[in-house]
Order: sequence, then structure tokens, then C-alpha cells
Amino acid sequence: MGDHPFCPQEGEVKLQEYRSKEILARYGVPVPDGETATNPHEAREAAGRIGGPVVVKAQVLVGGRGKAGGVKLAATPDEAAARAEEIIGLQIKGVTVRTVLVAPAARIAREYYLGLILDRGGQTGTIIASAEGGVEIEETAKTDPEAILRLPLHPLIGLQEHQVRRVAFFLGLPAELRKDFGATLRGLYAAFMESDADLAEINPLVMTDEGRLEALDAKIVLDDSALFRHPELESLRDLREEEPSEIAAREAGINFIKLDGSIGCMVNGAGLAMTTMDLVKLAGGEPANFLDIGGGAKADRVAAAFRIILDDPNVQAILINIFGGITRGDEVAHGIVEARASLGRQVPMVVRIVGTNATEAAEILRAANLITAESLDDAARKAVAAAGSQA
Ligand code: GDP
Ligand code: MN
Repeated sequence: MGDHPFCPQEGEVKLQEYRSKEILARYGVPVPDGETATNPHEAREAAGRIGGPVVVKAQVLVGGRGKAGGVKLAATPDEAAARAEEIIGLQIKGVTVRTVLVAPAARIAREYYLGLILDRGGQTGTIIASAEGGVEIEETAKTDPEAILRLPLHPLIGLQEHQVRRVAFFLGLPAELRKDFGATLRGLYAAFMESDADLAEINPLVMTDEGRLEALDAKIVLDDSALFRHPELESLRDLREEEPSEIAAREAGINFIKLDGSIGCMVNGAGLAMTTMDLVKLAGGEPANFLDIGGGAKADRVAAAFRIILDDPNVQAILINIFGGITRGDEVAHGIVEARASLGRQVPMVVRIVGTNATEAAEILRAANLITAESLDDAARKAVAAAGSQA
């Protein structure tokens, strides 16, 4: 929300609903007791143990599962098996469902939204609440911004009792639910803070026909830069649903985020990588990735970066932007030429190397028929033109 367009994705580790609920339950948030299943038989057994009507829910890291047919009610264990059969294998926004959550079905009287988000602009956590729950909060933000309450947390004091009361009042909760609501919000807050999360949300938080509060859906997004402080959370991430290229990059020690454009970028330094992406856009192109190759940029790291970039079939050209300081330009140029020779797929490469041994670098690159550029503007324009001629 309101961040630099490239930043929100960076370092995000989304947890599946059932994992997020496990965490929230430890903090006293009322969560229906569910079980996961990976086939109809397991779903039938789970529904039998739960007893009574259940809901069968696709466990994939995308929103809007309900609308996509990934959330279905079942009155009996046989029905639960049939619903699981329909949902497992389903593609939701390009992700294949492998696991479902089977949980007691709630009878919903009202649906609310309750979330805590790290607001980088405001430099603190913020409570987000709405009585228009169930739908995606981004939608409500567009159609009915008045329906959303945003309350920044005090960075030192944290969640305060008057804020809890204010949120309960804003949601129009019946007086007898205020106490349980306080425990829920405090639990959500503690889970958010103690996991170093970027987001912890319950959508919907429901009031049931019986007048109880229940968190029917939950989502926790962790910050991977903080994961080293939480070895117990690392094991909860679902690598099957993370970008394979991002996993490969992490293993090679490269800072990489996949994007949707056609210009692959290989840059040393995160700030320079951001600038490079901005200039690609200014030149009329779209970056295919953020990639910071780090200091030293040795041949093997360059080769790994090439493989990761070219693994994306959308990439039509690569823009390499290296600022030589301790990193020697000629060494990087050798690394690029060497690595390029071993690539399965060839695309035009535009290289800008400045700083230490830039002149020697330019000679090496020209001799190898790579496109060189004097300035970053020039490099971005050449890369966009080269990608255009490929398409
Ligand atoms: P999402 O669409 O991916 O956000 O998945 P949710 O878990 O939020 O489910 C979507 C919608 O399905 C909710 O807003 C509810 O209206 C409905 N739903 C989910 N669980 C239950 C349940 O136990 N009982 C009933 N009646 N509806 C449910
Ligand atoms: Mn939901």
C-alpha cells in the first residue's frame, strides 16, 4: 500500500492459511480447528473426525480462492471427499492446488476485515479494519474508502487499549463481543510483532449465528530479511509456491526479484539496480527483474545470474550495468564474455561498465561483439531498442 511499486514484493514470504492460523491460534486468536488433506480420502477422514458440516478450502498463496471455486461447504464426510476431489488439482490464478484445509463450517452472521500491516511510509505498524469483510481490502479501498479505518500504532508503546475500543466501535461490534475482540486484536498484534511480519490479516473475521468471533481466513506475510531471527518460522514457508528463479538466486547469493517485463537487468548494488529499472521504464521498456549481483561479481556469479535471467522466456534483451570500485571492470567483462559462451539461449546484451578499468572492459566487450554504452540512459535506450527488435 503506497510503497515504491517494486518494493512490496521484495523479500516477502507468504504463509499458507493453515500455517497462518496455527500461528494465530498460539496467540489466542479464535481459529476453527482444521486439518489438511492432500486427497479425497484424507478429506473424508478429516471431516469424519470433525463431525458436522465442514468447509473445504484450497491452500494456495493467492487471494480470491472463494470466487475461483476453491472454498466449498460439505454437509457430510462423503461430500467433503467429493469437494476435495473437485478442488485438488484446480488451477487458481495459475497455481495448482495440492492441499486443502478441512475445517468446521461456520454459520456466518457478519464478516469483518482486521489486519496489521507494516506501513513503510509511516514507519510503523498500522491497524486496518473494516465492517466490509470477506472481500479483498484493496477492492474496498477503491470502492468505499470511508469503510476502512486505519490506525497507526505508536512505535514505542504499540497497541493501546483505547485503540482496541475504537476499532471495536468502528466495526459496530455488539457489546458482549468486545472482550473477545480485544483478545483477538491483541493476539493478532502480538503475532505480527513477534514474527517480524509485514502483514497479519484476518479476512473474514466473523461473528457467527451463535454470537462467537472466529477467524475464518488468515494470512501472514513474513519479511525474509528478518527470518534469521525466527528459525522456527523458516520451516513454515512453502517453497513449492515461491518463484523457482528466486530460490535459485538465493542459493547463488544473488538478490533477485522476478518482474513481468522483457528487459533482464544485471546490476551491482541494490540502489543502482532500482535506478536501472527506473531508466528502463523511462526509455519505454519494462524490466524483467530486479537483480543485484553483489560486490566482487566473479565469473561464476555472473554465469548464475545469466541463467536465472534467461530462465524467464519473456526476456528479450539483457542490460548489464556495473559500477567498478573494488570490483574491476575488466574482470567483470571477462566474466560476462566467458559466461555468455556457455548459455543455451542468446539475446542481445547491452553492457555499461564504468569505474575501475572501464577502458580495458570496453575493449574486451567490443571484441566479443557485445553492445556497449557510455551512459546509463544510452544503455537503457539501446536495451529497449534491442528487445523491441527481438519481439
Ligand atoms: P479467499 O476467497 O481466498 O479470501 O478465502 P476465504 O477463506 O476468505 O473464503 C471466502 C469466503 O467463503 C468467505 O468470505 C466466506 O464468505 C466463505 N466461507 C469461508 N469459510 C466459511 C465457512 O466456514 N462457512 C461459511 N458459511 N462460509 C465460509
Ligand atoms: Mn479471505
